[in-house]
Amino acid sequence: MKRRTVIGLEIHVQLTALKTKLFCSCSADYRHSPPNTHVCPVCLGLPGALPVVNKEALRAAISVCLALNGRVADRLRFDRKHYFYPDMPKNYQITQYLEPICREGYLEIEYNGRTKKIRIRRMNLEEDPGRLVYPAGSPLHSPYSLVDYNRAGVALLEIVTEPDMESPEEARLFLEKLRSILEHLGVSDPSLEGAMRVDANISVEGGERVEVKNIGSIHEVERALMYEIVRQNSLLDKGVKPKRETRHWDPAHRVTIPARVKETEEDYRYMPDPNLPPVRIPAELVKAVAESLPELPDKRAERFVREYGLPRKTARVLVSRKLLADFYEDVVKMYGGDPRRAANYIVNDLLNWLKDYGIKALYSRVPPERVVKVLKLLDEGVISIRQAKELAEVIVKKGVDPEEYVKKAGYVKISDEEYLSRIVEEVFKEHPKAVRDALEKPKAVNFLVGMVMAKTRGRADPVVARRLVLRRLEELRARGASQTSSR
Ligand code: ADP
Ligand code: MG
Ligand code: ZN
Repeated sequence: MKRRTVIGLEIHVQLTALKTKLFCSCSADYRHSPPNTHVCPVCLGLPGALPVVNKEALRAAISVCLALNGRVADRLRFDRKHYFYPDMPKNYQITQYLEPICREGYLEIEYNGRTKKIRIRRMNLEEDPGRLVYPAGSPLHSPYSLVDYNRAGVALLEIVTEPDMESPEEARLFLEKLRSILEHLGVSDPSLEGAMRVDANISVEGGERVEVKNIGSIHEVERALMYEIVRQNSLLDKGVKPKRETRHWDPAHRVTIPARVKETEEDYRYMPDPNLPPVRIPAELVKAVAESLPELPDKRAERFVREYGLPRKTARVLVSRKLLADFYEDVVKMYGGDPRRAANYIVNDLLNWLKDYGIKALYSRVPPERVVKVLKLLDEGVISIRQAKELAEVIVKKGVDPEEYVKKAGYVKISDEEYLSRIVEEVFKEHPKAVRDALEKPKAVNFLVGMVMAKTRGRADPVVARRLVLRRLEELRARGASQTSSR
């Protein structure tokens, strides 16, 4: 693994927030719809149908470009990219080739305590192809394939990075940053199935670059890259040079497999789309979009550090998903206590249990009020830190109200002095030797307090328990002294 690794990514992002497709008024919300119900002459590519650019898509693309620190083109121009495949009804895809809407951006990632710039070469606005559906799940096992054009024409951004990443982890960090930016911009929900698809390019020193196509999630990108590093290195170890090729990621078997031989640039026969003559992108539009940009993750994390006194690392975890950062701020507002305590509890305890449900289930599984209740119970000393940790699991998994749960489970601390005094007395009777020790050595007091805690199965308020033990010892001392003096 000592050979240098180079990674560059091509990311396809659907603009899922748009109501309609890129060039027609068909609904872009195609998920869960019966096949071929969101179609019209334009997105079916029928002869004579004319595309009209969706203005909202243009605005969304500009906002992403600005958020990626890129330069917005001054013209909007489209090209046809030809290929013959059943998911493509026109036999060409409308995309951008010579003049991408965005160039020369970058994102910063935090890696090994250092900030690293990942440059973005270009970003295209283009249309998504349709979808092939295999009745048996995979092409290998299906006797025929079906085609669904609901997705055809949905607005897509293709973001191409420079080969600036050197490890699968860096690629993951880049994609996580990008995902959070898209969430904050509100242009795409990358957690929807197929909304963020990645082609990962990877080469290892001494070999050619391999492109792993169409990986469906950030986690899978990291895995696919790790697999390729091992595969390419072991080829090189055997003296075989990895060749330039396209491969597919098979998530079920966690391997990459060679793909069909791809078209080269010439085969695509790019040409300007005559139905979409170039139009100027008004500087005022870019300015207006720039002014309406929301607070983005990096700035938000800085604010969390400044305003709430969070460690940078905690702040970064919170802003890694918009929903999580929103949730945190909701909790902070309702709670009114130490924002660091709230952050700690969410990041270190809640998130851990939420993994099984996914971040989107956050608000529905755990309303912010419930977290606030736990934090208050903790502040009031009703529950211990350990009990708060235990509560995280039950509130996420069982969806219970913490206050009620605490009462039922008998978490409530016993601070009733009368009751605890009786326990103390019992303990003193049962452990006369420990009592004699404690009268002499202050350290031995702990044993007696511990016995009181044990007898109440940890429910005694330890502060009260200690006070009562000390008081009882004082009484014994006083009695001992008076007995001596009366002798
Ligand atoms: P093409 O136009 O053939 O797709 P590009 O040069 O545009 O090739 O690069 C496509 C992607 O591959 C980019 O994301 C780029 O960062 C990445 N890439 C380029 N060279 C390498 C390399 N040697 N190793 C890994 N990735 C690379
Ligand atoms: Mg490419
Ligand atoms: Zn349509």
